[in-house]
Amino acid sequence: MRDRKYLENLMYDLWEEYFSDIPRKNLVLIKFGKYSKRQLGSIKIANEYTKIKSLLKKNLDDYDVQDDKRVTVITMTKYFQNEIVPEYVVSATIAHELCHYAHGFSSPLEKRFDKPHQGNVINKELAKRGLLESQRLADKWLKDNWVGIVYPLHKFF
Ligand SMILES: [Zn+2]
Repeated sequence: MRDRKYLENLMYDLWEEYFSDIPRKNLVLIKFGKYSKRQLGSIKIANEYTKIKSLLKKNLDDYDVQDDKRVTVITMTKYFQNEIVPEYVVSATIAHELCHYAHGFSSPLEKRFDKPHQGNVINKELAKRGLLESQRLADKWLKDNWVGIVYPLHKFF
């Protein structure tokens, strides 16, 4: 079973390899959320600190050094804990959320568009970073497996 540390490593690797030009201006946390079928990932600015208190404690050193005290929280569907979901699917979902961060949504960076999914901006961003093919592979895997294989698993783990 994958844990939060796993997500954290995946996110930092992605950031280093594909988003190194995007400054991390605040603390960015990543965690598993509920068993969400439709929303695989989300990115928010935490406004209820009580909810992320335990996460904050674990990252206190990282938090203390930030000038911007807002905390960005990326949440992944709990289905991704199961190793039946390929890592590239998890990575693609994180990359999508990092595009939002880069565009100034749920991040301290300057907002680049009115709406987060306006005019295909995510795919354009992924293409620019050489990540579009991975996104396509992930979409294909999800299309072939999500409803039939992944939903029913929920009961067993
Ligand atoms: Zn999105």
